[in-house]
Amino acid sequence: LPQEFELARPVLQTIEQAGYEAYFVGGSVRDTILGKDIHDVDIATSAYPNEIKGLFKRTVDTGIEHGTVMILDHGTGYETTTFRSESTYTDFRRPDQVTFVRSLEEDLKRRDFTINALAMKEDGAVIDLFDGLTDLQEHRIRAVGDPQERFHEDALRMMRAVRFASQLDFTIEGPTKQAITDHAALLEKIAVERTQVELLKMLQGKKPQRGLQDMLDTGLWQYCPDFASHEVALTELAQRLHQGATSNEAAWTLLATQFKLDTTAIGSFLKHWKTANQTITAVQTATRTAELLLQGDLTAWQLYQCGATLTPVANEVAVTLGAPDRSTQLAHDLAALPIQTKKELAISGGDLMKAGVKPGPQLGAILGDLEYRVVMGELPNENAALVANSTAD
Ligand code: ATP
Ligand code: MG
Repeated sequence: LPQEFELARPVLQTIEQAGYEAYFVGGSVRDTILGKDIHDVDIATSAYPNEIKGLFKRTVDTGIEHGTVMILDHGTGYETTTFRSESTYTDFRRPDQVTFVRSLEEDLKRRDFTINALAMKEDGAVIDLFDGLTDLQEHRIRAVGDPQERFHEDALRMMRAVRFASQLDFTIEGPTKQAITDHAALLEKIAVERTQVELLKMLQGKKPQRGLQDMLDTGLWQYCPDFASHEVALTELAQRLHQGATSNEAAWTLLATQFKLDTTAIGSFLKHWKTANQTITAVQTATRTAELLLQGDLTAWQLYQCGATLTPVANEVAVTLGAPDRSTQLAHDLAALPIQTKKELAISGGDLMKAGVKPGPQLGAILGDLEYRVVMGELPNENAALVANSTAD
């Protein structure tokens, strides 16, 4: 068992000694069997939230209405969720009401895919009620139970399927893929923030070309905000993508560049996806730079404007879309810029006013011009030289 499970064993033992059942469940079991690193350990138990709280000194109510209590143990938090069945689905979204049950089987039945419906006992024994182990071995994503029903119940599962296809490099098996095709339009019922999470994970997976191709094959792409008019661009992207994006910004920049969106269009695209405003600005900058990199080299000014954080993002996207990898050169050129930010400019608005420039747009224009000339190496970044040149024109 991985270290994370070994550390969590006493937690399971405490629950079991009190007469309840407790298992490791979800992604951590799947990833352990696949031999991958795991991040968080999820526990499912027959104990009710209040019973769990009675067994441990330190707990946090992270989602008690859904049955989830976080147990704090030696500095680690374990999300512990009471077995539940989800019966009432309205609007093709997750049910707003959950029913706690005492049976593991009921709990595993409500899970999305067979590979996510495995449970592991504290001693490492695996409970596999839906042939999830075979599907893991055969690299298959298969819905638990009737796929048509499962995607009708919760349309987000369709995006989860393509996300796992990308992350694990697995195939979505026939009837499951057919059911996604049949229900793709229901994706519109899902809050865009939740679709976004899965899309970003998909684009950052091991085989994003696979997840994207699955979105194209099933029609899911059409129900993503502002994707509908980009079928050709998406098809081409599915062929070009050979590695996952390394950040959310890179994923959005990749789409914006491939869709050939201008600054305004990026703003409305990302607003429809409900991203943070900060993300919009970053993607606008990185996209502009990625386009320049696809055309040739950057000037010092262009490099300076993109900056140290976003230049690697722009380079990554340009490389994905066929440009040569300039990461070493760009890092070198960035470090060699006379200044990295406006703050480092050896003259301020105050200096200019002392030299007789009136406050106002004129002052901003002079400062901008000095900044440009310093970055381009036309002027030294020295106060005296800058003051002397500020009145020249
Ligand atoms: P990750 O490694 O990304 O965390 P995960 O499989 O743990 O992957 P989570 O979103 O953390 O995914 O969900 C934990 C578990 O809860 C899943 O493995 C699955 O069993 C179940 N689950 C999550 N979302 C759904 C859903 N929409 N429908 C059914 N079961 C779900
Ligand atoms: Mg998880």
